[in-house]
Amino acid sequence: MTRPWNFSAGPAVLPEAVLRQVQEELLDWHGCGASVMEMSHRGREFGEILSTAEHELRALAGIPPSYRILFLQGGATLQFSQVPLNLLRPDGNGRSADYIVTGAWSRKAYREAARLRKVRCAASTEADGEPSDGFVRLPEPGQAVRNDQAAYLHVCTNETIHGVEIHDDGYFGGAVPVVADMSSHILSRPFDVTRYGLIYAGAQKNIGPAGVTVVIIRDDLIGELRDDLPTALDYRIAADNGSMFNTPPTFAIYVAGLVFGWLRDQGGLATIAARNAEKAELLYGAIDQSALYRNPVESACRSRMNVPFTLQQEGLDDAFLSGARERGLLGLKGHKSVGGMRASLYNAMPIEGVRALVDFLADFERRHA
Ligand SMILES: *Cc1c(COP(=O)(O)O)cnc(C)c1O
Repeated sequence: MTRPWNFSAGPAVLPEAVLRQVQEELLDWHGCGASVMEMSHRGREFGEILSTAEHELRALAGIPPSYRILFLQGGATLQFSQVPLNLLRPDGNGRSADYIVTGAWSRKAYREAARLRKVRCAASTEADGEPSDGFVRLPEPGQAVRNDQAAYLHVCTNETIHGVEIHDDGYFGGAVPVVADMSSHILSRPFDVTRYGLIYAGAQKNIGPAGVTVVIIRDDLIGELRDDLPTALDYRIAADNGSMFNTPPTFAIYVAGLVFGWLRDQGGLATIAARNAEKAELLYGAIDQSALYRNPVESACRSRMNVPFTLQQEGLDDAFLSGARERGLLGLKGHKSVGGMRASLYNAMPIEGVRALVDFLADFERRHA
């Protein structure tokens, strides 16, 4: 049985080898007589699963000992609140945080933080291009109006909806710790953790199933125990309890660990990055040379993971999507806020899937030209 190619933005495609291993181990993990779903998170078996996942991730991404890895819940969305709650005091202590707005997700992060703490928008590319709300380029680093006293500078390094990616870890580097939402491109290429103070990512794009959020945080940002925060939102509590203050999302952590192992077996992040670059080049090449499809993002910051595109002829979207489905190409409908299509090319999407998509793009254009 061959499976269709799944271009969903998230939850998204997982490596088939990982799904098969999960299937094999589903009823009885390593002879312990129970499924990972059924075992105590305090037991030796799950302890092993958690520490393997952490070690695999640390090795894969070269995360130094001065950074903690936390496996949390609540998605990247909860990090929109948890970051400002932890890194800024309610009274501000005279400090605020800076946000760079480059798409729907960093705008959400900024708006949520603004409800809770004193924050500032240091730069935004909203509404200065097309589609209607802009977001087709990055601000020049020099355009950001920075506050060197800020507690942190928040960026979204890959805008999943608008398809805008920061390819250079040092792009917005400066005097203050950078906090990055890497949800949709973490582990898609080697990245320099030491350029960031805190990295977070919901797992369901490029890591594993929904339900676990990875937070990589520099020790000095974890801070003291806080009496002004809900206990379950305090990074200090999560760190001191090894992500087990309460029941962690055990099954999602287990699958994420298998994905980390799969990435290691593929040759690590440099190998996967070369593949991702090849996949993205193939698709953008096909879009750019066609008269029917269009991606509006400036080429220097086009996302290698999420490729939004529109059809330049009215009324063809439904035919495109149903034709794609017939050819075994799933999940191509674009986000409602930008319309059109979106193909997500996460690590687990093989180049064969992108070739099948590119063939379909050409066929469909020929038939409707
Ligand atoms: C999907 C996504 C989110 C939201 O993730 P949830 O896990 O649904 O909260 C936030 N940021 C980015 C960049 C995303 O792609």
